Amino acid sequence: MTPPLAHPAPASAASAADPTERIRAALFHRIGADGVYARTGLYEEVLQRLTAFVTRQRDPRAEVLRFPPVMSRAQLEKSGYLKSFPNLLGCVCALHGTESEIRAAADRHETGGDWTSSLAPSDLVLSPAACYPLYPIVAGRGRLPRDGGLYDVAADCFRREPSRALDRLQSFRMREFVRIGTPEAIQAFREEWMGRAQQLAAELALPCQLDVANDPFFGRVGQMMAVSQRQQALKFELLIPYFEGAKPTACMSFNYHRDHFGVTWGIESEDGAVAHTSCVAFGMDRLAVALFCVHGIDLARWPASAGRALGL
Ligand code: 5GP
Ligand code: ZN
Repeated sequence: MTPPLAHPAPASAASAADPTERIRAALFHRIGADGVYARTGLYEEVLQRLTAFVTRQRDPRAEVLRFPPVMSRAQLEKSGYLKSFPNLLGCVCALHGTESEIRAAADRHETGGDWTSSLAPSDLVLSPAACYPLYPIVAGRGRLPRDGGLYDVAADCFRREPSRALDRLQSFRMREFVRIGTPEAIQAFREEWMGRAQQLAAELALPCQLDVANDPFFGRVGQMMAVSQRQQALKFELLIPYFEGAKPTACMSFNYHRDHFGVTWGIESEDGAVAHTSCVAFGMDRLAVALFCVHGIDLARWPASAGRALGL
């Protein structure tokens, strides 16, 4: 006799509530933590093709920089990250000290004790966005050329937001086109990209809408920052519903930082004025998951225009 189940099994409960659960196994394998997954060959195939698709959209004048998943803690602190998103930041900690101190900490683990109490912060944090390490590099070169600067950056990013949802990863890949220059140049860049992004979504046969947005600033003061960011329309997002009736997921963002990074790092335009900055961020994992959710896991059955865009 099969004993009656006291509670429904979590997997079936989730799949009934969330259609994206059906495709999870084709894309990801669990590796012991929510929002941090091993990616299947099928998933990586699409992510690489999507990466090539984005590269084809790049202005040939853009300077390409690829950043590691960690960055200087001092640089991120100076950028003001702790004022806005202290709850999302991951800091690299390590066992410092003499050989015997490190041995003693590690041995505590063997005897069921807590080795982590000996951890101390290092000079590194996990990069929470791809563009942060760019600004000090640009500042260090002296005044910008007359047309300002245009960059293509990418990094594996980390945000401490554990979740089982397929669109909320703790570790995800971000690609950004960044513009640095006069306020006029920045506005034009962002306007152009808000239009182009919708065309790209159409090529990929993904339903989308563009909307004004705010960052998830931390705490009560953060709520006021979010209101002000919206009022000034400093952030827009490209939203894609993963399935019919779903709350749409932000797969790209279009950010105008005004002179924040220019003042922080001393970035100057050719005439000595403080430079303004803007970034267009592609959430590569969110876009890839969107493709699978909307078109299914059989690439041969994807719409022709998406197939052409991705070279399938
Ligand atoms: P933003 O800096 O605007 O918060 O993030 C830029 C882009 O990164 C977002 O539009 C989104 O596509 C992606 N992103 C942000 N948070 C997450 C997340 O938790 N998981 C995944 N997969 N992508 C994210
Ligand atoms: Zn950015």
